[in-house]
Amino acid sequence: MAKRLEGKTIVVTGASSGIGKSTAKEFARTSPKNLKLILTARRIDTLKQVAAEIKEEVGDGVQVLPVKLDVSNPEEIKNFVPSLPEEFKEIDVLVNNAGLVKGVAQAPEIASEDINIMFNTNVTGLINMTQAILPIFKKRSEGGRGDIINIGSIAGREPYAGGSIYCATKAAVRSFTDSLRKELLATRIRIIEIDPGQVETEFSVVRFYGDKSKADAVYKGVEPLTGDDIAEVVVFAAGRRENVVIADTLIFPSHQG
Ligand code: NDP
Repeated sequence: MAKRLEGKTIVVTGASSGIGKSTAKEFARTSPKNLKLILTARRIDTLKQVAAEIKEEVGDGVQVLPVKLDVSNPEEIKNFVPSLPEEFKEIDVLVNNAGLVKGVAQAPEIASEDINIMFNTNVTGLINMTQAILPIFKKRSEGGRGDIINIGSIAGREPYAGGSIYCATKAAVRSFTDSLRKELLATRIRIIEIDPGQVETEFSVVRFYGDKSKADAVYKGVEPLTGDDIAEVVVFAAGRRENVVIADTLIFPSHQG
């Protein structure tokens, strides 16, 4: 697997924490030779810290480029590829991971600001990133080459009360991903969706607007997955032979099945 990933250029959105951070590290650990990692999120200082941790762990075989990028801002996405250094422009893998949930509320009570943040980040952001990167893939032989790995959620398959908007965003991701895969059949562009169940990250802290005690209560008495559990699946999917598509994966902790 390490050989297949060697020399690749990989973009991870939402790489400043949780699943995205774990994914960046897992790529670096698995293939520490000639890998180029572009780490994006809004918190640039945190991304620089992640980049430093990767360098310390795997050394100089991996080039890491932290880039401040708000995926809910279409202008920033438009400028993303053009403003990359030349040696980072030939992207091979896009991990569309940036995402969030805001609040737990019945549908009539959800603030319109939260609705917009969730859709603009989880859905429009993911679509805009995909549109920004696909032309790079399509220039390559056999109809194109490259991987788009979308992080959906179990919530996109099994909606729950109090999470209608978040569930709707992840159902939209699922539908978009399935359509895109059909549009790109018979190319070497792989469209992959990985849907986690409960993973302990900053996700719940964001859900409760920074209230850590409420976030911690979510995991009381259960054993959630870790970011590393998801990262291993992402890297496994990207590391398959080119005509092997791990199209659709649901991964949850045993208490949640
Ligand atoms: P975290 O909160 O730990 O990480 C979310 C990441 O997304 C952060 O790096 C954050 O960075 C980034 N992000 C949020 N908004 C934006 C934005 N507008 N532009 C760019 N980056 C953004 O949560 P997780 O790691 O758990 O979440 C990662 C993905 O996994 C999400 O798509 C989530 O929906 C999904 N997921 C999570 C589950 C869980 O139980 N944790 C379960 C199922 C799916 P920054 O704040 O620096 O911008």
